[in-house]
Amino acid sequence: MAYLTLRDINKIYPNGFHAVHNFNLEMERGEFIVFVGPSGCGKSTTLRMIAGLEDISNGDFLIDGVRANEQGPRERGIAMVFQSYALYPQMTVYDNIAFGLELQGADEEYIDEKVRNTARILGLTDYLDRLPRALSGGQRQRVAIGRALIRKVGIFLMDEPLSNLDAKQRVTMRSEITQIHRETGATTIYVTHDQTEAMTMADRIVVMKEGYVQQVGTPRELYFHPVNLFVAGFIGEPPMNFIRSKVRDGKISIGGAELDISGKLGGQQGKYNGKEIIFGFRPEAILLGRRENACVLSGAVELTEMLGDNVNVYITMGDQQAILKTDPHDAPDTDSNIDFSIPFESVYLFDGETERVIL
Ligand code: ATP
Repeated sequence: MAYLTLRDINKIYPNGFHAVHNFNLEMERGEFIVFVGPSGCGKSTTLRMIAGLEDISNGDFLIDGVRANEQGPRERGIAMVFQSYALYPQMTVYDNIAFGLELQGADEEYIDEKVRNTARILGLTDYLDRLPRALSGGQRQRVAIGRALIRKVGIFLMDEPLSNLDAKQRVTMRSEITQIHRETGATTIYVTHDQTEAMTMADRIVVMKEGYVQQVGTPRELYFHPVNLFVAGFIGEPPMNFIRSKVRDGKISIGGAELDISGKLGGQQGKYNGKEIIFGFRPEAILLGRRENACVLSGAVELTEMLGDNVNVYITMGDQQAILKTDPHDAPDTDSNIDFSIPFESVYLFDGETERVIL
């Protein structure tokens, strides 16, 4: 049986705004799930309903098979870390971490053991006597996580916990949180708008848009098998290239090149004849030059961006634009014309109207 079940969960705020529509998810014990999507898509609202900080308008929330809609946050056995990790400024790291257990009236020896163990997991052992102001942003966030982790809870919720950190600290904390999760085994739900965080940390990702779940899957599933244009464009950096074009007899035309996509359309060739589709390919999926078993396109190089391990090449093909990712050693020159190939298996087609992937 699933540990957490969200069944047709909806949130309608008192002002009538319908923020979350029929959210369904089953989570196994110990899983690390990431809710990802652009600002306002309903991720925090869903997390707050799970936490018991926000009423569930309708639908069922079950913990271990038992309906928990009416339970308060404490009864649910939940700990939460927020974006703003307000620590008590006048208390040491030790006291900040110990605070929750002290409130519960736990005995001193027990608290001491728990604080030291939590500090060890979080790499804070050497900082226990410091005040928060003498810590870096990343260290402060670790204290906030420690404060939440010290109580024994089944469910650990995090809402954009890294958004106050700089880019370098975020990268470090990403792997640290993954490590902490491995050590504690707590069932975790993590909210972010950052697809890189989602891809690097999650066992499974829930992609949301405008209150609706778009797709649930492993990072690999979302990257290779997006169900629609939104997921395809949201996962991956730089994003997937999209080019709209009308199908004529199994062919489309892009920047003067005619591409035979009949193999991709298969039995649906008739259905799409005369209709608009969206041709998609990832910047990193291309090969320079003309290849077999591939869609071959030509473009003019407008700009190149050297990133060290790769180069982003911005090209135009007639009135269409795309980004290609190449090895720095064979990056083309600005203003040159290039041919490149997209292997058939790396081509995605989406319905021009529904924006669903064509399989
Ligand atoms: P962000 O990353 O910006 O926090 P989010 O995906 O977490 O975005 P939510 O905070 O869940 O989004 O908000 C979802 C939608 O619900 C937004 O359009 C927001 O304006 C709306 N909303 C949030 N709280 C309320 C409220 N108390 N009353 C009415 N609408 C609200």
